[in-house]
Amino acid sequence: MKLSKSFIPTLKEVPADAVIPSHVLMLRTGMVRMLSAGIYSFLPLGYRAIKKITEIIREEMDTIGGQEFHLPALNPKEVWEETNRVEAFGDIMFHVNSRDYVLAPTHEEIMAYHAKGTVKSYKDLPQIWYQIQTKFRNEPRPRSGVIRGRQFLMKDAYTLDATEESLDKSYQLHDKAYRKIFDRCGIKYFVVGASSGAMGGSKSEEFMVKSDAGEDTVAYCESCQYAANVEVATSNIDTVARHDESKDIYDIHTPDVRSIDELCEFLKIDERETAKSRVYIHNEKPVLVLMSGNDEVNETKLESALGGDVRPGHPEELMEITGADAGSIGPIEFKYRIIGDNRLKGGNMLYSGANKNDYHIGGIDLKRDVPTIEYFDLRTVEPDEGCPRCDAKLDVFRAIELGHIFKLGTKYSEALGATFLDENGKSHPIIMGSYGIGVERVLACYLEQNFDDNGIIWDKTLAPFDIHLIGLNMKSELVSTKSNELYNILKQDGYEVLFDDRLDASAGFKFNDADLLGMPVQLVVGERNLKEDMVELKDRRTGEKTKVTLTELELKLKEMIS
Ligand code: ATP
Ligand code: MG
Repeated sequence: MKLSKSFIPTLKEVPADAVIPSHVLMLRTGMVRMLSAGIYSFLPLGYRAIKKITEIIREEMDTIGGQEFHLPALNPKEVWEETNRVEAFGDIMFHVNSRDYVLAPTHEEIMAYHAKGTVKSYKDLPQIWYQIQTKFRNEPRPRSGVIRGRQFLMKDAYTLDATEESLDKSYQLHDKAYRKIFDRCGIKYFVVGASSGAMGGSKSEEFMVKSDAGEDTVAYCESCQYAANVEVATSNIDTVARHDESKDIYDIHTPDVRSIDELCEFLKIDERETAKSRVYIHNEKPVLVLMSGNDEVNETKLESALGGDVRPGHPEELMEITGADAGSIGPIEFKYRIIGDNRLKGGNMLYSGANKNDYHIGGIDLKRDVPTIEYFDLRTVEPDEGCPRCDAKLDVFRAIELGHIFKLGTKYSEALGATFLDENGKSHPIIMGSYGIGVERVLACYLEQNFDDNGIIWDKTLAPFDIHLIGLNMKSELVSTKSNELYNILKQDGYEVLFDDRLDASAGFKFNDADLLGMPVQLVVGERNLKEDMVELKDRRTGEKTKVTLTELELKLKEMIS
């Protein structure tokens, strides 16, 4: 493509809300423009990169036997009511046309709808159905550019199986395909065990990229590659010690002591001798959650432990439920359900709130004094705690979720009546899996990992063009003729070439643009070199420049772009 005729509106200044590198670079290079919060238009340069990604995804999905669909984004609401997901998605779901229709945020329901009646017997299974299609989610806080959009492209795949073993095979195929896809895209990623939470499935893993722009937090072990979303991550942190000594419980007057730190300071004790209480509401009933010291309650773990949604008790409720404010609540004589973190199992000689403002209780033996307590893993791991697998120190950092693979089970097939007959003519719900990749996120994550002060650094695989051909002084007859000739030859050779043929742009301007747009190879055609039958090649990643003769050029390019 000739730059003089192309629409690549680069920017010097980007809007102040663009802070992360991928967002800034996509705007500066004219790949995208924002239409409205979380809604982006892909301009020609950006769309070329998107097409590279979707082609790779398509190839790898076809390799594992995937069959490509194209489902409508506009869905009748009834189908979504079968699974109660209109309610579950709530405000995230876009409603249209007097609320008879919705815009699909994902497509489990529609795939199950089509499976019903068309997949009849175990002989019709397994199936892998996928599509690369637009999704709509009214995200409350769209940010970081295309990483969290209200309209975005997803590769979503669904597997239909007759048995758990067969589902496991389908799941493994996707795991392999996803690794291939992200490897081919040149992205450094890692895989984490994830919460299957409210979706009701049994196994789930996320493909993640380390980035401050991420909205997920991950615990990662450099030494054994243990990786887990903090929603499920554990560490080998010690349980609290059980002391040989034992005391009866006793009240302590602790005026103005609200926090664990204040309590430790006041009593000159260690954090590990304290148990902090928080009250949550589950199924409209209070539950006291007891944690060691300042350990944080992990609400995702809490929801898995209790089964279903929870919310922290409001300050006004706390007084009514416990007789005290937040800083003075404790397990002794608490009238409702009490659960504790595993770390506290067997703990004694503990200090906790007394359910009376300005008082704490000492000498608590959980076995003796709180006999109804049930233990679960409820705490959020912290950086530098020991890896649960190998003892090395855990790193905790932010990450972006690129993709998600998920054993769904029969929730959707049961709700929509998608069944099959087994060898004995008995009917069963189809066992499903669901697998997603955010296409724009792949692009954004690639950019997050591949840039320098001057702009993007593309590898051949996702680059919108292979070669950035720069005609230095296009007013020169020699340069103009030769660069046009090269442009045509290279295109015939099958290269995708962006040709800076602008008449009045200076050399410096053209070099800067070439670095900003970041194609893997720059081919510079200038008058001085041409007189010696030479041109210059620059490798965008290394910055290395080589002068080659026109006869050597094709061979050298092959070496650089392979
Ligand atoms: P998140 O936790 O980031 O909201 P999710 O778990 O809701 O994502 P899934 O339903 O698993 O996402 O969707 C599959 C993939 O689609 C995700 O792994 C992600 O790459 C992509 N994706 C999800 N939401 C968005 C969005 N708002 N904008 C861009 N891509 C998205
Ligand atoms: Mg997900």
